[in-house]
Amino acid sequence: MKVFYIGSLILCFTLFNYVCAKVCDGLESVRATDECYMRIALNFGLTHNPKAPFGTLIVDHATNEISCYGVNSNKINTLLHGETAAFWNCTELYPSPTNNDMLNPGLNWSIQTLYTTGEPCPMCASQAIYRGVHRVVWGSTVEDINYSGCPQLMMNMVDVLATSKLGANRPNPKAPILEGGILKDDCDRAFWCAFSSSRGKSYYEAMKKEGLEDFVKDRKARFSCDSEPKMHRYRI
Ligand SMILES: [Zn+2]
Repeated sequence: MKVFYIGSLILCFTLFNYVCAKVCDGLESVRATDECYMRIALNFGLTHNPKAPFGTLIVDHATNEISCYGVNSNKINTLLHGETAAFWNCTELYPSPTNNDMLNPGLNWSIQTLYTTGEPCPMCASQAIYRGVHRVVWGSTVEDINYSGCPQLMMNMVDVLATSKLGANRPNPKAPILEGGILKDDCDRAFWCAFSSSRGKSYYEAMKKEGLEDFVKDRKARFSCDSEPKMHRYRI
């Protein structure tokens, strides 16, 4: 039996809420296209797991079609971060036609872009590298998320990528292109508000000790968590 994690009630969700295919097609620039997909990823995260809005899409950038979705599903399995859920969902949706996922995967991963609201942690970053996705695009950084109160492995994806080598320590020619900061304000707000209950006395003491009081001031000044975040609806 195939199991689709909550991150990917895939086609049903898209049919009811968003256009499944080509919703971001024909936009004027790569930046506009990235923002369009990031908006969907963020909406998906906020809809399915507002307390941990790590939403993810994997998009075929040759056809501009969404291949699959993911969202943090740690109530099902604590290892199911948004990106991990999406990788598993895509693998379930597109199994190898010859039962050899390593040599003959069912999806052409070299033309897929991973969109994720938060910079991938080392676990998810590793999967993006092993899968050989073409690009990885995120909104908030590991630091943005951690300083908002969420536990994180404090390593950036660029540092994980630097460890990816072929035999004899040669560079990995299939290393994904990395791009952060897409819809950063919206993603930062989502994480800041989602982890508000994690910010107790010890959090504020530690932020002060780390010299990060300006981060707190900035977030408090810019982000009100009283109102619902703006959700964008796409018309079919
Ligand atoms: Zn992760």
